[in-house]
Amino acid sequence: MNHQYDVVIVGSGMVGASLSLLLQHAMDQGLNVALIDEHEIKQHGAQQPSFDDRSTALSLGTKRILSELNIWQSIASQACAIEHIQVSQQGQFGRVRLHAKDEGVEALGYVVPNRVIGQVLSQSLLQQSRLTRFTPAKVVSYEMAADSAVVHIEHAGQNLTINTALLVLADGANSMGCQQLGITQKRHDYQQKAVICNLSLDGNHEQWAYERFTLGGPLALLPVQGNRYALVWCMEKSEADALMGVSESAFNARLQDVIGFDKGRIIKSGERALYPLLLSQAQEQVRSHVVVLGNAAHGLHPVAGQGFNLALRDTKVLVKSIEQTLTQLGQDQLGRIQHLLAYQQAQQQDQTLTIGMSHYLPTSFTQSGTLWSILRGVGLSAMDMIPVAKTVFARQAMGLVGAAQPWQP
Ligand SMILES: Cc1cc2nc3c(=O)[nH]c(=O)nc-3n(C[C@H](O)[C@H](O)[C@H](O)COP(=O)(O)OP(=O)(O)OC[C@H]3O[C@@H](n4cnc5c(N)ncnc54)[C@H](O)[C@@H]3O)c2cc1C
Repeated sequence: MNHQYDVVIVGSGMVGASLSLLLQHAMDQGLNVALIDEHEIKQHGAQQPSFDDRSTALSLGTKRILSELNIWQSIASQACAIEHIQVSQQGQFGRVRLHAKDEGVEALGYVVPNRVIGQVLSQSLLQQSRLTRFTPAKVVSYEMAADSAVVHIEHAGQNLTINTALLVLADGANSMGCQQLGITQKRHDYQQKAVICNLSLDGNHEQWAYERFTLGGPLALLPVQGNRYALVWCMEKSEADALMGVSESAFNARLQDVIGFDKGRIIKSGERALYPLLLSQAQEQVRSHVVVLGNAAHGLHPVAGQGFNLALRDTKVLVKSIEQTLTQLGQDQLGRIQHLLAYQQAQQQDQTLTIGMSHYLPTSFTQSGTLWSILRGVGLSAMDMIPVAKTVFARQAMGLVGAAQPWQP
């Protein structure tokens, strides 16, 4: 059976789902959109693995986009505001401290359990009456036709062929779409893994987030509701594998050594999960009738908490471009390469800065040696003392940059 849509989104993770919701206005004006995912979307959340017990740091820019979508209201009660951030290196001088008040914003960001984000996105998707959902569906293959992209899927026991003016690949870091269309996802392996878990300390976190760089790898502690922290602890692969097997008390003791006692004593650590650390970048983010988005386009080191935030800014700018093409030129022009290149160009600077910050922060702090250590200490102290430098750094971290953000903080 053959189907025709103006836009087809493959992947209903955080990015594909957000794109569907941001396209609501265009759908109201007649844009025909289909969403494909191998997992079912349900009222209590999609079944897909990203909507797990992890937490995600949402930037202020992301909060503003989610508010526009009227979904922040459902997330807010379970979000923990980050009012202060401290960046430091273990056992050395120099640190940067950022405060929401100094930057004139209500919070530097918010930490939200992925389960909550998944639930709210899923409920909103199910309410989109104009969206066609093919879920669960298995993508069998992709091909390019003269004036469209074509997706072959198996859905509800049927083989379907779907033609589209614009195919959006939001199918994650190991994108089958990229593989089948010959789009290389270049990877840099950090040779590290991240150990993730939730923590309770006997001190009050008072809305502080910590980024601590050690020679073994970076560590982030994010405040979550219920006076808990979400931990992202990066280290060599073999060390991380070994740490997964130790008892809770041995794990807590190792971690306490690294974070010190000024935040309090660790009283409980939850179930641990392990993530390999890679930087992946699609070598083409756009081509005629195709856009690569989210983790499929760029998968970042998680310690700066920027992957989804950047992808949502990309998504917002892509939607602006789709709306513009739609009103000025019509549906059949949506996949034209010049419009897609204009979208990519609008996001290029933001992507370069965000990916650079996420990559160089963790890697530069693993260089050993006294000179490196002094340089880093001087760099952190200098940034701490120069308000303009702090604000530039804070605005990038808060996602208040680039073509996606017309607002002033
Ligand atoms: C440990 C960790 C911590 C992080 N912390 C943060 C943070 O604090 N802040 C932040 O901004 N970002 C963070 N990130 C990054 C963030 O999680 C990702 O950027 C985001 O999840 C990417 O979403 P996505 O929708 O692009 O991909 P995914 O979540 O991978 O979704 C891809 C979707 O495509 C579907 N799919 C795949 N293949 C097919 C197929 N063949 N057919 C049909 N469907 C398919 C899948 O089912 C899935 O639903 C973190 C990442 C990690 C690993």
